[in-house]
Amino acid sequence: MAPRQIGPVEKMAKKTVYVCDGSCHGAATEEQWIAGAKTCSATGCNMHGMPLKRREIEA
Ligand SMILES: [Zn+2]
Repeated sequence: MAPRQIGPVEKMAKKTVYVCDGSCHGAATEEQWIAGAKTCSATGCNMHGMPLKRREIEA
């Protein structure tokens, strides 16, 4: 029976998201951003049409 190594889960699980600073508080995943969601598309948001800001969060 082989001992199973259990190391510390120090994987730096960071996730990149793209967020709107406007009133919609919307966020796009990196996949959505690459697919073209580079600006806020929320109707009525005060930052509508403005570029989303890149942010790294703990996944
Ligand atoms: Zn917005």
